[in-house]
Amino acid sequence: MSDELAVTPIGTSPAWYNPGEPASGTLVEVDGFRLLVDCGSGVIARYVDRWAPALPIDAIVITHAHPDHTFDLVPLKYGLLYGALGWDAPQLWLPPGGHGRLQRLAQSFDGGEDFFTESFDLRTYHPRTTVSIGPFDLRTREVPHYIESWALRLDHARGSIAFSGDMGPDDGIVELVRGVDLFICEAGAPAGTEPPPDAGHLPPELAGRYAREARAGELMINHVPAELGLERQVDVARACFGGPTVAAMPMVRHVVGGHARRPG
Ligand SMILES: [Zn+2]
Ligand SMILES: [Zn+2]
Repeated sequence: MSDELAVTPIGTSPAWYNPGEPASGTLVEVDGFRLLVDCGSGVIARYVDRWAPALPIDAIVITHAHPDHTFDLVPLKYGLLYGALGWDAPQLWLPPGGHGRLQRLAQSFDGGEDFFTESFDLRTYHPRTTVSIGPFDLRTREVPHYIESWALRLDHARGSIAFSGDMGPDDGIVELVRGVDLFICEAGAPAGTEPPPDAGHLPPELAGRYAREARAGELMINHVPAELGLERQVDVARACFGGPTVAAMPMVRHVVGGHARRPG
C-alpha cells in the first residue's frame, strides 16, 4: 500500500561485502515520496535493477562519509547527468563538513568543483535543528565513530524511524531514539565483547539495551559483517531488548508500525 510508511534495506554490508549484497543503503517510502538513507557501494546498481528509472529518489540523507555509505553517489551522479534516469535533482542532505569531503573526493578523479552540485540539490543538516524533507522531519545527533558520524531520526504522521548509522557506544542515542516505532541499529561488533573506549561499532547487547531504554516499538539489526553470524547478533539483541527484533534483510520491504511501544 502506497500510504504505508515502509523501509526496504537495499544493502547492509559493512566496509567489505557480505556475499551478494551491497553496502549500506535503506529506502524509506511514504505517500510516493522516496528517501534513501546512505548510498554505499552497490546500492544504486540494485536500485536501478529493481525500481529505476520509473521511481525517482526524491532525497538522500548521508550519515557519514565512509565509502560503504557514500560511494554510489558517483554512479548515481553519472546516471542523472548522462544516463536514462531523467529525474529531477534529488535533495542530498549531508552532515556538517560533508560537502567539502565530497568535493575533495571528486577533485581526485574529475577536477570539477561542481561535480556533485550539478546533479544534486545539496543541503546540510545541523545538530539541534529539525529540518523538513518532503513529508518527514529530520533530527540528528553526532555519534562516536572513526570519523564524524551522525544518527538520524525521521518523524512522519504515520510513524517514526531512527537510524544509528555507524556508531560506537553512546548512551545519549537513547534521547534521539525515544518512542520511535522502528529503530534501525547497527551491530557491527561481535556479541559478548566489551567495546574498547574508542570503539566505532556496537555489539548487539548495546543495540538491544538502547532500544529498550528508548522504548522503541521494534528493533531492526543492521550492518552486520556476515562472519559475525547475523542470526546470533539478532538473537542477542532481541534478548537484551525484550521486544520485536528483526534482521535488516536486503530488498525485503518492512512496514513500520503495528507494534506497541515498550512499556516504561
Ligand atoms: Zn559502515
Ligand atoms: Zn563507517
